[in-house]
Amino acid sequence: VFVSFEGGDGVGKSTQVALLGHHLATLGREVVVTREPGGTPLGLELRRAVLHGEHLDPRTEALLYAADRAHHVASLVRPALARGAVVLTDRYLDSSVAYQGTGRGLGADEVEQLSLWAVQGLLPHVTVLLDLDPAVGLARLTGDPDRLESAGAEFHRRTRAAFLARAAADPDRWLVIDAAQPPEDVAALVRERLAPLLGA
Ligand code: C5P
Repeated sequence: VFVSFEGGDGVGKSTQVALLGHHLATLGREVVVTREPGGTPLGLELRRAVLHGEHLDPRTEALLYAADRAHHVASLVRPALARGAVVLTDRYLDSSVAYQGTGRGLGADEVEQLSLWAVQGLLPHVTVLLDLDPAVGLARLTGDPDRLESAGAEFHRRTRAAFLARAAADPDRWLVIDAAQPPEDVAALVRERLAPLLGA
């Protein structure tokens, strides 16, 4: 089973991925917790390049995310799914559609096509959207904001709207959760809503 977690910066994706992973592991399931960008050694190099390297034009940025994703899926996600593991990823291709497609203005359809090509059409069974006002999410982040986290408020409003629009267009895949709630409440909701799929 393949589950992705999506949403803006500071909504709590990594916390929720870890909590669900721990829950499933205690039930005896094999769980692979991973993330994009940076779920593999090559991915970590690409993550550094895209987040902390020289300034990139939007197409270069989109292609580096796509390369990270292609390698991530081919080398880690597909093999894990093939042996029956549950794969939980902190971000997947919907992040690219929202950030590069809508946020950077490359076009949601184009970036979706690029992303689907990169992963040979692999979509998650469920995508959990942790939805939160970007002002609240960004205020939760500590440490040095990287380039994208410090992008303007308008950029983050556009990406939030893009995530919500994608979720509304495909309710069979998406589960939208209000991420303003305490993390334990979000985790309980995620567990409850995914229980039928995960048999947990
Ligand atoms: O969520 P994470 O900390 O891994 O994301 C790192 C940064 O990369 C964030 O600022 C996020 O907004 C950005 N990002 C992006 N496009 C993607 C994935 C992440 O702009 N496709």
